[in-house]
Amino acid sequence: MGCRICEKACPLNNISMVNKKPIWGENCTHCMACISKCPKKAIEFGNTTQGKTRYLLKDYVPVKNL
Ligand code: SF4
Repeated sequence: MGCRICEKACPLNNISMVNKKPIWGENCTHCMACISKCPKKAIEFGNTTQGKTRYLLKDYVPVKNL
């Protein structure tokens, strides 16, 4: 949808927008930030992430608080 959230989420500036679509460069560390922050779950890493939960920092519960 061209929201650019993935582009902004990438710590390595590895995503650029072309015609409102994200294009991934060659500098990916597979941190999964772009995948996890997409509000539409529109980004997949092949079959690996299909149907899997996306993790956001707000979902993180430190071990000491469990
Ligand atoms: S997985 Fe991480 S490093 Fe790779 S493109 Fe997405 S946000 Fe950038």
